[in-house]
Amino acid sequence: MQTSASAISNDVIVIGAGIVGLSIALQLKLDGYKVTVVDQSPAMQGCSAGNAGYLSQANIFPPATSDLLLKLPKLLLDKEGPLVIKPSYLGKMMPWSLRAVSALRSAPYAVNVNALSSLITRSQESLALLAAQANASHLLSTEGGLIVYRTEEAFKAKQKSIPVWRDYGVEVETLTRQKTLEMEPALARDITGAIHFTHSGRCSNPQGLGLLYLEQLKRSGARFVQDRVKNARQIGIDQWEITLSSSRLKSSKVVLCAGHASDELLNGYGYRKALVSERGYHLMIPAPRVQLNRPVVFGEPYFAATPMVHGLRLAGTAEFCAADSPPDMKRSLMLRGLAEKYLPGLNSDDAQPWMGVRPALPDGLPAIGKVEQGIGFYYAFGHGHNGLMTSAITARCVSALIAEREPPVDLKPFDLKRFGHTFCD
Ligand SMILES: Cc1cc2nc3c(=O)[nH]c(=O)nc-3n(C[C@H](O)[C@H](O)[C@H](O)COP(=O)(O)OP(=O)(O)OC[C@H]3O[C@@H](n4cnc5c(N)ncnc54)[C@H](O)[C@@H]3O)c2cc1C
Repeated sequence: MQTSASAISNDVIVIGAGIVGLSIALQLKLDGYKVTVVDQSPAMQGCSAGNAGYLSQANIFPPATSDLLLKLPKLLLDKEGPLVIKPSYLGKMMPWSLRAVSALRSAPYAVNVNALSSLITRSQESLALLAAQANASHLLSTEGGLIVYRTEEAFKAKQKSIPVWRDYGVEVETLTRQKTLEMEPALARDITGAIHFTHSGRCSNPQGLGLLYLEQLKRSGARFVQDRVKNARQIGIDQWEITLSSSRLKSSKVVLCAGHASDELLNGYGYRKALVSERGYHLMIPAPRVQLNRPVVFGEPYFAATPMVHGLRLAGTAEFCAADSPPDMKRSLMLRGLAEKYLPGLNSDDAQPWMGVRPALPDGLPAIGKVEQGIGFYYAFGHGHNGLMTSAITARCVSALIAEREPPVDLKPFDLKRFGHTFCD
């Protein structure tokens, strides 16, 4: 660990050692940059540590949909439901919700689906390439993924999206009850059927993936500095100074990937604050005694189960509240009761609860771009439900931006200015 100041041209400081920051750091290292990663905690302790590991081709739709809006009052009243908004967070949620609703109008919605799918459909290939560079290929696989339904009504309703998925090149089919049970014999007999995303994949140890990236970074000469970043400011042409709690770092370029805390570090750069904390929970079951062969999302109520190196991980919930308020681990433990209905015989002895803070932007798209004021300041955050899936393609985009190459996807829809900026107001 090193915290002393340095000034080397053409080097990059990456703020945040979650999966987004470490992917960008590794991609930049591979592209020949001198890289320093800074995080206030040891690497991979934030949201990236405990996600569901699902590489879901289904997620081309932003999570806020008009359908969800109609069900909102019922969902908020349901104590065991997947959605919670804490009253103390309503003030912050109000502008966010208005923006989310505005993004549902048909024109912006179509643009957003197009933009998100441009990332999602290129994600797994990028992940596989990056993981291979860190000897982490064994953690990725592509067995497909299912959304399983209990009622005919919900199953039929979801099938309406199949033509749209297909329009965007997502390989999808419906499965009868019998076929679903052949593929996943551990499921309860009273399911109706499933939607099968044949090319979806899985990471069997999301935290392990990031830690292998870090190992590879260190092996190839990158530095990891553990300290809190207070601010970043430009001090000369192509020179940035990062103030830490106990020292300063200098570099020619900075990439901000601080997850849900990112917009605080953009104070003073003219952006309207748009990020909220959408907390999610998992329950890690070490010896489940039932086996799933691929990630399974349960449609009613909505949560997921993924087979992992360390057991079966149940994950779900969108809890909008202050990132630092105490976790409500009841929400994690509730997943056990829900899963027992779908997975008879599930043994949840020694299950471990966990909470993580998704960085959520109202339109469901991440923010990937470069800061208007100042040359050499880039950002990549707000990946919401898809941060693992889209980490490596984001890294390729940021690397292209820094090198002034054409990025692999059109980055206009991901520009943070879309929520307002003093230059545009
Ligand atoms: C229950 C759950 C299930 C999920 N399932 C999936 C899934 O199946 N597939 C998928 O693709 N995504 C999933 N996600 C989403 C995914 O985990 C996130 O999108 C992703 O982890 C975000 O990564 P990040 O690097 O932006 O943030 P983080 O992992 O939170 O990393 C940000 C880092 O920045 C650091 N930091 C913050 N402020 C500072 C500062 N001032 N100074 C220094 N360091 C700082 C933090 O310490 C942290 O390490 C899930 C999320 C949850 C909660």
